[in-house]
Amino acid sequence: MFSQFALHERLLKAVAELNFVEPTPVQVAAIPPALQGRDLRVIAQTGSGKTAAFVLPLLNRLLGDGAAKPRLSLRAVILLPTRELAQQTLKEVERFAQFTFLKAGLITGGEDFKSQAAMLRRVDILIGTPGRLIEHANAGNLPLEEVEVLVLDEADRMLDMGFAEDVQRLAEACSGPHQTLLFSATSGGSGLREMVAKVLKEPQHLQLNAVSQLNEGTRQQIITADHNYHKEQLVEWLLTNETYDKAIVFTNTRVQADRLYGKLVAREFKTFVLHGEKDQKDRKLAIERLKQGAVKVLVATDVAARGLDVDGLDLVINFDMPRSGDEYVHRIGRTGRAGAEGLAISLICHTDWNLMSSIERYLKQRFERRSIKELKGSYQGPKNLKASGKAAGTKKKKTDAKGGKKAAKKPAAKTPSKRNTINKPKGDAPALVSQDGLAPLKRRKPAAE
Ligand code: AMP
Repeated sequence: MFSQFALHERLLKAVAELNFVEPTPVQVAAIPPALQGRDLRVIAQTGSGKTAAFVLPLLNRLLGDGAAKPRLSLRAVILLPTRELAQQTLKEVERFAQFTFLKAGLITGGEDFKSQAAMLRRVDILIGTPGRLIEHANAGNLPLEEVEVLVLDEADRMLDMGFAEDVQRLAEACSGPHQTLLFSATSGGSGLREMVAKVLKEPQHLQLNAVSQLNEGTRQQIITADHNYHKEQLVEWLLTNETYDKAIVFTNTRVQADRLYGKLVAREFKTFVLHGEKDQKDRKLAIERLKQGAVKVLVATDVAARGLDVDGLDLVINFDMPRSGDEYVHRIGRTGRAGAEGLAISLICHTDWNLMSSIERYLKQRFERRSIKELKGSYQGPKNLKASGKAAGTKKKKTDAKGGKKAAKKPAAKTPSKRNTINKPKGDAPALVSQDGLAPLKRRKPAAE
């Protein structure tokens, strides 16, 4: 229950209004120390409820005793890597702040600079991407001396995207006494460790196991494919025959995203494409249309779709296998949110197989092998599956012994398999694990963006 936290009554009212009943593990772990004013370094995935884990303590701190006071300067800053994520976070802040006098504003690239500068003078909480905020800082528009709370969300991704220096400068400009909350999806590399050392003061470290953050009720399947053209046919088949409300198809490159998008449009699927080369207008439109239901299918690359939170997203197709276990968790973390059912299907050709096996080992899962009778190809996985096809810590299913050959007799569409759903750890305690307990696969920079 959220009433277990010492939150201001106006925030508890908003939480109730939003029908949040049980706090998620990251909220249980992070909200109490954040309310005490501690600096935090939290490893938690998208979809885990991490936004509320920092927004509620932030608002609580700004509310103080709840008495309205004249706003003198910016009081909180939330930095995020992408525009979409910033927009979503603004919405979350506004939802939680709906019964308060606190005002939030958004500063991202691609919007009018002058009107942003004017807006900056009217808000308590600023949510933005580092590049544009630095431009405002350089123009003398950004008073950060009075900031009381600084949040660095998806810090690992901000570093991946080359924002380290900008983030560092903005953090240094928050020169008054303040609390810093740093969230990342992975444990990150030396760059992140350096940032943690520089911007956090005696932080409490909370690491929520990536696997435990996957949503219960998301089935995970693989379908083998011979080549990209075969994969395109499989995507069309799945989008035609699966039961879903909204779907995302992930590709590793924007060239493939555009190509697939073209094919799907030609087949009259209601589709949008989202990748790093799309301008702000296209991105907004894609997300809005998907949210409203005018578009049912989004083709996207990882960076462009990062942090997307769309209700009713119940099918994720990995056209290509993501390059790391963490990225896989991010992608499929979009389905089955807040208890809903979801289905994640990865299309695996010979170049994806080893990656898929290592992700199985990382997650200690064995994905359900599935094949589509009408589109069965010749590639069924490596010849010697004994060594490569078995996920650590999982039992092999009889029907799966040959990488899906036997299971292929009948397409497994719409047959939920409890055995392949992700199980959350038992009990209520958040799954905190040691640094060694979560050994992410090697992260690579997203090449496509
Ligand atoms: P996030 O990981 O912050 O992107 O949150 C994922 C989704 O879960 C968002 O739609 C949140 O509004 C929702 N959510 C977060 N915490 C809770 C909760 N305790 N109960 C129900 N929904 C939640």
